[in-house]
Amino acid sequence: MSYPSDILIVGAGFSGAVVAHELSVNLENPPKITVIDQRNHIGGNCHTERDSKTDVMIHRYGPHIFHTDNEGTWNYVNSFVKFRPFVNRVKAKYQNQIYSLPVNLHTINQLFGQSLNPEEAKRFIDLQADRTIDEPSNFEEQALKFLGEKLYKAFFFGYTKKQWGCDPKELPASILKRLPIRFNYDDNYYSDPYQGIPEEGYTEIVRKMLDHPNVNVQLGVKFHPENSNQKYDHVFYSGPIDEYFGYRFGKLGYRTVYFEREDGEGDFQGNAVINYCDESVPWTRIHEHKHFMPWEKNDKTIWFKEFSKETEDSDIPYYPKRLISDMEKFQKYQEVLEKQSGVTFLGRLATYRYMDMHHVIQEAREVASKFIYDFAR
Ligand code: UDP
Repeated sequence: MSYPSDILIVGAGFSGAVVAHELSVNLENPPKITVIDQRNHIGGNCHTERDSKTDVMIHRYGPHIFHTDNEGTWNYVNSFVKFRPFVNRVKAKYQNQIYSLPVNLHTINQLFGQSLNPEEAKRFIDLQADRTIDEPSNFEEQALKFLGEKLYKAFFFGYTKKQWGCDPKELPASILKRLPIRFNYDDNYYSDPYQGIPEEGYTEIVRKMLDHPNVNVQLGVKFHPENSNQKYDHVFYSGPIDEYFGYRFGKLGYRTVYFEREDGEGDFQGNAVINYCDESVPWTRIHEHKHFMPWEKNDKTIWFKEFSKETEDSDIPYYPKRLISDMEKFQKYQEVLEKQSGVTFLGRLATYRYMDMHHVIQEAREVASKFIYDFAR
């Protein structure tokens, strides 16, 4: 392939913005880079904006807390904007009581009405655990093996049914592996050493990444592979893989979420996130956005009830379901993808994976480095 002079990037979320930034800064002769996004804003699902009524910074597509164990990724995001320390201490509401999350010694003592110390709690939970399960093959078995029935039913069964819209037995064990169980009072939702929220929101990072004379951002523009692939030396695509191939093997399953906004004065719930674990409560959680920026003071407040449902044509895909039937279709898409040249697929939608922001950024940096290296040789 000749040296690229004209590049198209589809998607102005973190994947696209990181690649645009890396290529414009690191390629010896920076190419012309066009970034398109079908939405009318940059930042993808990480988009944040100030609410015009209250001035609260809103995470329009749901809460985003940056966390990583990779020092390089942490230094990278901090090179664009200032991050403020933020620890996500999620609470859970179940049967009219508030509990600590992720499941920790406090949760165990609360739920079982005990005052166990760490060693006692380990032995106690060990007795609750289902010893007949050797290799958990699904979400439910993973939970029963490591938490036992009571904790599972309280905090995971109803919530997971609501979030994923299916029986937890149908879900992979890996979804639960995202959450730890702790035998101390550490209620930090994440275990990563680097955590924070950008002082001016996530969109500001993306804006800075895209701020280069060679980068041209076009919003409200839909991508059509048939018109675009010949026009550019290379395309980086971060949209849905099934859409790229005209859904020829069928649609991949996603859950989507939607929000109901409520406004008020003062402090509605005293915390950024409260999960509602009862199956009978229709929403999965409530987030009150001013608590994501405790360094700002605001007399007004906004909170969002979050609901989960199947993705329909007009909905934004959020969580890849990755059921067996989905993975069979995805395999077929991957086979055609391997035969493509001049296009790189990256990010959550194009690779059909459940990815956090730090994974997306790390992967996009690797993709860009490889591309640059190929031309540096
Ligand atoms: N989960 C749950 N109860 C909770 C929180 C999480 O059952 O209170 C389950 C749910 O299935 C979720 C998974 O654990 O998809 C992983 O949780 P995480 O907080 O990482 O969820 P995310 O919102 O990122 O999917």
